[in-house]
Amino acid sequence: MIGIKNARIVEKDQLKTVNIYIEKGKIKSIVPGGGALLPVEKVIDAKEHVVFPGFIDPHVHFDDPGFTEREDFETGTRSAAAGGITTVIDMPCTSIPPVTNGLNFDYKLNIVKPKAYVDFAFWGGVTPEQVESGEYKKSLKELKDRGIVGVKFYTISGMELYPRMSVPYMDKVFRLMKELNLVCAIHAEDYYLVDYYSHLMQEMGREDPESWSLGRTYEAEPEAIWSVVGITEKVGNKLHIVHLSTKEGLNVIRWAKTQGLNVSAETCPQYLVFTTEDFKKMGSILKIAPPLRKEEDREELWRGLKDGSIDFICTDHAAGKYPEEKSFPNIWKNYAGIPGTQLAVPMMLHYGYHQGRLTLSEVQKLMSENTAKRYGLYPQKGIIKVGSDADFTIVDLDKKWVVEPSKLESKGKYSPLAGKKIKGQIYMTIVRGEVIYQEDRGIIGEKGFGKILQFKV
Ligand SMILES: [Zn+2]
Repeated sequence: MIGIKNARIVEKDQLKTVNIYIEKGKIKSIVPGGGALLPVEKVIDAKEHVVFPGFIDPHVHFDDPGFTEREDFETGTRSAAAGGITTVIDMPCTSIPPVTNGLNFDYKLNIVKPKAYVDFAFWGGVTPEQVESGEYKKSLKELKDRGIVGVKFYTISGMELYPRMSVPYMDKVFRLMKELNLVCAIHAEDYYLVDYYSHLMQEMGREDPESWSLGRTYEAEPEAIWSVVGITEKVGNKLHIVHLSTKEGLNVIRWAKTQGLNVSAETCPQYLVFTTEDFKKMGSILKIAPPLRKEEDREELWRGLKDGSIDFICTDHAAGKYPEEKSFPNIWKNYAGIPGTQLAVPMMLHYGYHQGRLTLSEVQKLMSENTAKRYGLYPQKGIIKVGSDADFTIVDLDKKWVVEPSKLESKGKYSPLAGKKIKGQIYMTIVRGEVIYQEDRGIIGEKGFGKILQFKV
């Protein structure tokens, strides 16, 4: 048995000191009041720091296999471990082949399994070609059997092996997804709007950061969300909007929720902290899709988190080869993405909790509980409760530190927060009772310890 002493857990916004006992990777008992531990084989001292249920990053691109010059499952899950993330869910489209059938799932799993430091699951995928041939019916069932959390769709795509899906095709696949009880996750930016305005900007000879934002025009997001919400209204499937960036997109989601539709949404720390103005100054390092928006959007996203219309936080971790893919003077040539997994928790503590926007209970819900519930892994993950996995994110709430990109575990050693002083740091990361990261020791987990999670939604 393992014992954690001096742990302070969050209960209704109160901090409660407890001792936690762990057996075979699961929480065996939680003893209020703390005090001396029973005799155990191993003692973990939480040193009065705040102990959260292990945080989950449900949207990462770890690029393995296929784009491992950018990231791989080892460096990706190491950055998760160092960032207090105990479970990641990897996207289907940024590996070769994409995870579009059982065979491709098994192939990817065999490659990434020996590299994982934290627990993980996969998103599944579908291509227009599979819809045309009718093959998607068989392949999505294969993926469901292997425990994917859902299927990712793009209304716009720059990926050759993973093209965008039209409304009629999504309508077809959503119907099957309803039958399979799986979440349909959408990258929502209207193709026609973005295609037209992006070309227009380039025809005008513009290469500055703002032209990227103007090309990926604002209304493209709410427009695309309307389209997919419209399908969901007819089909009744589970819909999820990824990396929400606009106030107007959020308002569509709010409307859908008032209609009782099964719709959820996530946003990322970058949309909560930065705006187009920052992008204009900092350039390529903040190039992402959808792009950063205005101050009022940023503020509205915080309100959305607070009022429950945005369900949880993800990072959309996507590391470009740095500096090679992030240093072109022409903004259009740069890779779009930020490696965010290691910094998401400190960012939410610094900008969310310490700036009075979120309580600790809200941080807990937005980074663990709500995510686990949406993807069917609750109460195995997402809660500190007897019988649940002993996954913990222990944070030193008041620790001040400076972000140094060279120290990131990701292959992409860049961050828009470079040189920034942050309040709130990861003290320890524990997966199924094993300490895999400790502030003063770095990564101490074992490669291959991370387990695949088969979601039963
Ligand atoms: Zn993504």
